[in-house]
Amino acid sequence: MELGKLIVLTGPSGVGKGTLLRAIMGKYPELELSISATTRQPRDGEVDGKDYYFVSRDKFEAMIAAGELLEWAEYAGNYYGTPRLPVESKIQLGKSVILEIELVGAREVNKNFPNAWRIFVLPPSLAELETRIRGRGQDSEIAIARRLERAKIEIEAAHEFDVQIINDDFDAAVLSLEAAIFGK
Ligand code: 5GP
Repeated sequence: MELGKLIVLTGPSGVGKGTLLRAIMGKYPELELSISATTRQPRDGEVDGKDYYFVSRDKFEAMIAAGELLEWAEYAGNYYGTPRLPVESKIQLGKSVILEIELVGAREVNKNFPNAWRIFVLPPSLAELETRIRGRGQDSEIAIARRLERAKIEIEAAHEFDVQIINDDFDAAVLSLEAAIFGK
């Protein structure tokens, strides 16, 4: 059987990666979204095992030590990482797996999976990104400041990716994402 593709979707916090993905995941059963582990506290409505595996720092560090993570990074004071086994087994089964991860992790994936297809989602502007993060109403002032700081660094690295999508008009961005994933 043909192996599935590994697809990396990166872009600053608040840019709408999750919403874009939700718009396409239901349509394409051959796509699988990897569920990350994180030490961040769940936001309202987030479910353990669905949105993330919410784990302690000790548990996360044990996962790193045991080589259980395909990549990991520290972001705005918390650890985030991709459990290796589910990704590798789904790719073996011919499924395409999407990792929705930040820049450090995306660079790490590139070292180990040079054939991964890497997509970067840009906001129309930094001001609009800040409005979106604040509009989410889920992050403290410190978390917002850290996320905006990190956003600037990530946006400067957008050119490292195979495709860049601007999430300005949502429907157009969904079409661009579909083209980026399937039109390769
Ligand atoms: P949030 O706290 O807003 O859910 O996520 C913060 C950032 O961490 C986002 O940019 C998200 O894409 C990224 N992220 C989520 N899971 C992972 C992961 O497994 N690895 C890495 N490197 N970043 C992740």
